[in-house]
Amino acid sequence: MGEWDAIGDAVTGGMLARAVEPSAGEAGADGHTHETNCLNCGAPLTGPYCSACGQKAHVHRSLKAFMGDFVAGVLNFEGKFWRTLPMLAWRPGELTCRYIAGERARFISPIALYLFTVFAMFAVLNFNGTFSTDGKPDIKVSAKEGIKTEIAAEQKAVARLVAERKSAGNDAKELARLDREIAEKKAEVDAAQKLLSGKSIITTDPGDDAPDWIKPFIENAKENPEAVSLRVQEAASKYSWLLIPLSVPFLWLLFPFSRRYRLYDHTVFVTYSLSFMMMLVITAGLMVALGASGYAGLLFFVPPFHMYRQLKEAYQLGRTNAILRTCALVTFAFAAAGMFAAATVAIGAM
Ligand SMILES: [Zn+2]
Repeated sequence: MGEWDAIGDAVTGGMLARAVEPSAGEAGADGHTHETNCLNCGAPLTGPYCSACGQKAHVHRSLKAFMGDFVAGVLNFEGKFWRTLPMLAWRPGELTCRYIAGERARFISPIALYLFTVFAMFAVLNFNGTFSTDGKPDIKVSAKEGIKTEIAAEQKAVARLVAERKSAGNDAKELARLDREIAEKKAEVDAAQKLLSGKSIITTDPGDDAPDWIKPFIENAKENPEAVSLRVQEAASKYSWLLIPLSVPFLWLLFPFSRRYRLYDHTVFVTYSLSFMMMLVITAGLMVALGASGYAGLLFFVPPFHMYRQLKEAYQLGRTNAILRTCALVTFAFAAAGMFAAATVAIGAM
């Protein structure tokens, strides 16, 4: 079982250099081949790599080589990841510039990073959901518990006010004030109970004013609010890529008809920026899970700061110019997020 020995040997170390870059003499038993033409595309070989397709000239057919590929893949991704991440956090403009200018192999591509963070974000959010309920991966349940507690507190307040009213005597002003407060609290309890039963998704009855085509969706959301919210979540992860094409036109509007910047540049900018924002959501989620939700709120102030830095450096703007464009970009970001939310809710309610 030479191959298993090879794995054991590989795991114990020193394997990287040999597995990833085998020395020329390793032939025969381990499947080493000596080719004159590329095994992938057939082009004549002139060096250690095919000049037509880039594949290595010699490939192996051993488990050791398989492990080597795996380790090399992980290390390659990891190396790029740790080169890209600090820069994305602290020098996002420089990262954007250098990637656009051609340093493509050095950094993780914007779209790869984006897909990776979408995946990580939903994993963390669902993990939090699992944490807050009894093993049921449903974020809604913890919200329900919160509403129930709120209702109980409001009901207590109503009882206290009623008792106060009884002992208030004949002061007309005082009685009127207490009556008003009781009515307010009761209305709050009512609203919370409606929220709990799912009726509040649509606060007003569609009645006869609503167009006919929308009524089935409203009925559906009323009858089954939890299923709808789950479908909205699903839609949000499935169509997360939509955020990129939704945002690019906004960024183009910041530099309309500029000949200096191409759509490609804006797309790289937007995709790196969105990836960073999702990493913030992941960080906030982890902080909440660790019980530091108080500090998680501070992360809310990071996005404008990050946008400013990225804009300033990537588009080489002066300070005032960068501040003005950051204000516009923050506004646009809210618009894009709103459009995305509306789209996913619409898809979820269908
Ligand atoms: Zn080739």
